[in-house]
Amino acid sequence: MHIIHIASELAPVAKIGGLADVVYGLCQATLKLGHTAEIILPKYDCMNYSQLTNLKIEQKELWIVAGSTRYSNAIWSANFGKLKIFFMEPNHERLYDRGVIYGCSDDIDRFVYFSCVAMQYLLQSGKQIDILHLHDWHTSLVAFLCKKNNYKLGKCVLTIHNLAHQGICRISALSKLSKDLLEGLGFSDSMNLLETGILYADRITIVSSNYAKEIQTPEGGFGLDPVLRDSQKKLVGILNGIDQDYWNPSKDPCLKRNYNTQELENVLKAKQTNKCFLQQYLSLAQENIPLVASISRLVPQKGPDLIEYGIIRTLELGGQFVLLGSTSISNSEIKEQFVAIQKRYRGDNRVAILLTNDEALAHLIFAAADLLLIPSLFEPCGLTQMIAMHYGTIPIARMTGGLVDTVFDIDTSDKPLKERNGFTFAFPDQQGVNWALERAVTCYKNHKKWQKILRSGLSQDFSWEKSVKQYLLVYEELLSFKS
Ligand code: ADP
Repeated sequence: MHIIHIASELAPVAKIGGLADVVYGLCQATLKLGHTAEIILPKYDCMNYSQLTNLKIEQKELWIVAGSTRYSNAIWSANFGKLKIFFMEPNHERLYDRGVIYGCSDDIDRFVYFSCVAMQYLLQSGKQIDILHLHDWHTSLVAFLCKKNNYKLGKCVLTIHNLAHQGICRISALSKLSKDLLEGLGFSDSMNLLETGILYADRITIVSSNYAKEIQTPEGGFGLDPVLRDSQKKLVGILNGIDQDYWNPSKDPCLKRNYNTQELENVLKAKQTNKCFLQQYLSLAQENIPLVASISRLVPQKGPDLIEYGIIRTLELGGQFVLLGSTSISNSEIKEQFVAIQKRYRGDNRVAILLTNDEALAHLIFAAADLLLIPSLFEPCGLTQMIAMHYGTIPIARMTGGLVDTVFDIDTSDKPLKERNGFTFAFPDQQGVNWALERAVTCYKNHKKWQKILRSGLSQDFSWEKSVKQYLLVYEELLSFKS
């Protein structure tokens, strides 16, 4: 099968969050099964090129027509292991040279343009494509363009990673270039790119079964629940995996001590070494007390107030807290909130607040922490709970979206005891956090119970090998319908 992904992120080349990990993991898993997977990305100026080889200009000038003007683009290609990546770079304007992936006032223009250029590139490339796999609102427009123009570029699969972001705007507020690109396609003035994708894609995958249910309700549908209910037959929930070569404690170069997760003794010893190293690195007291961490984008979805409360409460309960949180220009109030927290705790050797995106440090924290707090208000799938468990760290998670499908409370879950792998709470409020956190910190001293939870988390299969089979079923089923 020949699968082409068109996406805004790919780990670790251009990564903001889980979307990047998922696109990477899915590509690798399909390649391993002998399929051809390629990906098209914008050529951002802030990419991590370190693991790419053979970066070169594939085509100096790819022209697209908008209104009465032609725009030229350079097409770059590179190899990332077995994965071939194509980068689209407009020659006329610095649409992707902004030092950021998202967060510009003209993001919708940037991704409308990207969708059109990617489409044009595929049309003239002559590639025989089976599946065109699109991700979130950024590339949803491609599904519409294919159907509207009857382009034969394979079956269109759209994955919804996060329904909260839809690419909504008024066409009259877009740039002249976008207006010209969208001219005559039958849009009214208001446009919702994700909705367009939902209506025109052949199949829609959602990143967990529980989130697939939640988004069809008024509470979880962000206004699109009626459209999603109408498209119910096209929807399928497939839990994300984690790439276990990339997230591999036995080889991870970011750890002080690597470990084989098959033996608990090994995990416990390595945890001690990695924890001491992290404590030293972050100037935390070298004590054997519960180390709670949070690794998250600091946006409303992730429950920033509850993260703050989690810090306060952890200290009251006698633990340490490490926050690795990335801030963004579009959430400046949250950034200010955490800068103030950072100041409050300056010099306190029980807390480290790091307001940055640091991939290597994230790996070390996953290995070094005892507990990972995830108090999300909603969470389509969530990867951090899976990575944490795979690294021998116990999640404390709010029961929403994919967290419901992956974290099972040691005390209250109706799952068999050997599958219970964490601490959970139902309501995203301080009482909820407190209830789970108190139990978790207390449990730290109960070695027998603690190790039971650890073992259960470590034995869970969150590999892509499992999830990719479900994607392949979706692809095969679509290809079996001739149209
Ligand atoms: P989302 O996609 O909503 O951000 P996920 O849990 O699905 O949340 O995925 C988050 C991914 O981003 C994980 O790989 C996590 O390790 C990573 N991540 C989040 N915040 C940071 C940060 N500040 N620094 C490094 N990595 C981060």
